[in-house]
Amino acid sequence: MSMTATRWLMHAPGQPFAAAGFEPVPGPGEVVVAIAGCGVCHTDLGFFYDGVRINHALPLCLGHEVSGQVVAAGPGAETWLGKAVIVPAVIPCGDCDACRRSKETICPNQKMPGNDLQGGFASHIVVPARGLCPVELPALQAAGLDLAAVSVVADAVTTPYQAVTQAGVQTGDLVIVNGVGGVGGYCAQIARAFGATVVAIDVSDEKLAPMADGIAGLTLNARQVSGRELKGAISEFARQRGLRHRSDWIIFECSGTRAGQEAAFGLLNHGATLAVVGFTMDKVEIRLSNIMAFHARALGNWGCAPRLYPDALAMVLDGRVQVGRFIEKHPLDDINRVFPAVHTGEIKRRAVLVPSPAAKSLTSVTRSSAHGH
Ligand SMILES: [Zn+2]
Ligand SMILES: [Zn+2]
Repeated sequence: MSMTATRWLMHAPGQPFAAAGFEPVPGPGEVVVAIAGCGVCHTDLGFFYDGVRINHALPLCLGHEVSGQVVAAGPGAETWLGKAVIVPAVIPCGDCDACRRSKETICPNQKMPGNDLQGGFASHIVVPARGLCPVELPALQAAGLDLAAVSVVADAVTTPYQAVTQAGVQTGDLVIVNGVGGVGGYCAQIARAFGATVVAIDVSDEKLAPMADGIAGLTLNARQVSGRELKGAISEFARQRGLRHRSDWIIFECSGTRAGQEAAFGLLNHGATLAVVGFTMDKVEIRLSNIMAFHARALGNWGCAPRLYPDALAMVLDGRVQVGRFIEKHPLDDINRVFPAVHTGEIKRRAVLVPSPAAKSLTSVTRSSAHGH
């Protein structure tokens, strides 16, 4: 007896997703995850609305921010059976030159669900077991969270976690996060957990409000304060707090907009670090020589190495990084309503698509048969 599953396929950019049945079969080293939740990422919108190139041929199921439970395992992956897991958004091969040098995020053989593989806007997903992050359900429950809520750890939390780690943020640093929706909001919380004092910048007061509530020491609306004034306001704040006010700022550009990137570049000072976390197809006009003159550095960041996931998850479980108030769950069956609502900004929090209870009960019915398969 086989397992029946459903996934929502993108046949062409901008055209409604269509549900399709499939039979999830794990190959060697692979598992089938019954999906608890899958977050809708800016990157999904790019694929769907902006024609950003997709590696896999269409039709493809998008979605790379997945949590769930392993319900079937291929040869060599049996130890994962029954475990609750987070699927890394970028799954490196583990064997190549880059992986051996701990540069997994540039692994040329990496697989991204919803880009290289059929993704997570589905009842089930088939993924390599390598790199899965186990989730202890009692700890999750103690934190007042469910498995669907921590789907955002797959990308929105771990991507800034890697960026903050890579930038070497530590106690006493002044960190500026530009763009505090989704990824940026987590970036601010993680930087604070690493001991930094955080300045949050956005063009939306609605996104700045939760930052002002115990996360950022200063919030600035870039529609009201910009350019030299912005730099001056941050400098004055740093001076008042006894932090470095003229050098060594660590700036995380998370807005993924041209205006945001230009503003972030304008905040460079001596010894500064600019971490580019957000993505846009737009080009910006900057004086690159400022990096030279300021002896500054710019760092890029693609996903997060799976070995860092347990530490990022630990921050969520012990409350240093809050996720509950920054997400909202919607039924997966509403995907054709949720995507436009996220795109237009009607949905402001991270939307997590949750497969219907019918799909989940199907999972429990077929679990034993999948095992004997
Ligand atoms: Zn993403
Ligand atoms: Zn590799």
